[in-house]
Amino acid sequence: MRESKRVLVVGLGIAGMSAALRLHRSGWTPVIVERAAERRTGGYFIGLFPEGRQAVRALGLTDVLHTRTPERKRSWEVGRFGERSRGVGFLEQPGDPDAVLRGDIEQALWSAIDGHVEVRFDTVPAAIRTHAGGASVTLRQGGSAAETVAETVEDFDLVIGADGLRSTVRELVFGVHERFMKPLGAVICAFQMSRQLPEFRSDDALVIADTRRSLWVFPLDDCPPTALFTYRPGDVDAQFSRPPVEVLQDAFAGLSADGAVEVALEELAGAPQHLFDSVHYVEMPSWHRGRVALVGDAAWCLTLYSGMGATAAMSGAALLGDALDRHEDDVERALHAWEQGLRPFIRKHRRRAGFKAQFFVPSTRLLTRVRSAVLTWGARRKLSTAGQA
Ligand SMILES: Cc1cc2nc3c(=O)[nH]c(=O)nc-3n(C[C@H](O)[C@H](O)[C@H](O)COP(=O)(O)OP(=O)(O)OC[C@H]3O[C@@H](n4cnc5c(N)ncnc54)[C@H](O)[C@@H]3O)c2cc1C
Repeated sequence: MRESKRVLVVGLGIAGMSAALRLHRSGWTPVIVERAAERRTGGYFIGLFPEGRQAVRALGLTDVLHTRTPERKRSWEVGRFGERSRGVGFLEQPGDPDAVLRGDIEQALWSAIDGHVEVRFDTVPAAIRTHAGGASVTLRQGGSAAETVAETVEDFDLVIGADGLRSTVRELVFGVHERFMKPLGAVICAFQMSRQLPEFRSDDALVIADTRRSLWVFPLDDCPPTALFTYRPGDVDAQFSRPPVEVLQDAFAGLSADGAVEVALEELAGAPQHLFDSVHYVEMPSWHRGRVALVGDAAWCLTLYSGMGATAAMSGAALLGDALDRHEDDVERALHAWEQGLRPFIRKHRRRAGFKAQFFVPSTRLLTRVRSAVLTWGARRKLSTAGQA
């Protein structure tokens, strides 16, 4: 029988749990470390395209993944003064994406690893030293309370950095964030609302897309919609010096859409959690060095505009497991083969993300008009085709 190899997975997100699950199934012994004190839940809307569903199947999660795709898909483009026209919503894109919350995917992954994989919360890597047969990692447990901090040094056959956009593993092994994080000049604020906006049905999707700023509302089948404010400010750093509600009130000043924006801002003020962040791509010449590999946003963040981040995280992890199976006795060769196989997929979606970003939040007046014309035409075409059917 093959001797079990130890893999350290840093990060308990979609990429980290997918990697741990896949490698556990191939006989590895994963240890996951997570900076947070407990597992997060909920989160924002995620669209799962066919490649995402394929990744869910590859990880054996089809039966445990809770999806929330509304039965009826109807989307509105809403103008500055509240005027509505039918649009083509996120869920009406080619490929018929399924709607889930990020927490739904994480819950499905958790149900598959819970009890099988060791998870250490409140723990981060403080140093990583790679050597011929693996890596020695200094793990720091205890977070901010100085008196409770404990450090241990442990050896692993492989380290997987799945710790997101601002990856500590990437910084420790590959270099500073600035080398790899490419700012897009945009900001997002995503949160779950307690109710649909007034005058809309609970399963309506809506988009208020103005030049350099937009509000999206994504309906879900069995819970209230999630909302996404996204905008392109002149000075991104300045957005993080005040509470998000105040910053967004200024950024969306003069755009009401008949009160819809104000209601969404009130919802944000009352939301138990939100994500408020700048948008960056991650571009790296290589996702592995020695026995350390990066997976998910840490390696190739495609941005939310691509709609492929969760998909890429899951497929990347599943393919990593396949490569390690194929090159059982040569981990570094496996990492090389994995990266070669995955690069074209990531490159393709990286290219598309730039175009899709204009669909989410157009950067000029001209593009705002083009976007609106294309979507209105698309919606008419869709409606007339449906009428003929
Ligand atoms: C608003 C929004 C909408 C999106 N919509 C879509 C969509 O429609 N479709 C899609 O496919 N994707 C979408 N994505 C992208 C998708 O959510 C991510 O690409 C995906 O979740 C993969 O994330 P990850 O696991 O790589 O990183 P993360 O989710 O960032 O997880 C990283 C984990 O590592 C932990 N961590 C961080 N630092 C450390 C450390 N030093 N030590 C230990 N642990 C650490 C964090 O606490 C976290 O648990 C969207 C993203 C956003 C923000």
